[in-house]
Amino acid sequence: MSEKIIVANKGPVRAEFAFWVGQYMDKFYDALENKELIGNKCPKCGDVFVPPRKYCGKCNEKIDFDKNWVALPNTGTLQNYTITHYKVNDRSSRKVKKPQILGMVQIEGSNTAIIYRLLNIVPEELRIGMKFKIEWGEKTKGDPSDIKGFVKI
Ligand SMILES: [Zn+2]
Repeated sequence: MSEKIIVANKGPVRAEFAFWVGQYMDKFYDALENKELIGNKCPKCGDVFVPPRKYCGKCNEKIDFDKNWVALPNTGTLQNYTITHYKVNDRSSRKVKKPQILGMVQIEGSNTAIIYRLLNIVPEELRIGMKFKIEWGEKTKGDPSDIKGFVKI
């Protein structure tokens, strides 16, 4: 006799899980917790990555963990931006009253841009190439939310 078990679910399924981000991101988040920004530098082509990478995104050279780290300033240049009427990281949310501005900011001394909210600024003020600095969260915990966003310098 064979028994069939059929499990069906209608609607969203909530799945709790945890994973280790790896040693490179672990070190990066440790720095964020101390309100410091770090990246790593490719020993071959010299590109600097924020967040750090194990392999260079340009020339594929391995970037050793025990060296190649660089301390970076909390300032950068706006490369691009978008305006959204929905909360980020929340698929079920409804429209928000005040649209959020998301900016791609290239940290000074790095070759990559990171995406965060641009705070205390209205769309009319925005210009590509503007200088911004990190606004740290009051209580840091070693994750991406330690950076609240960027504010105009
Ligand atoms: Zn490289």
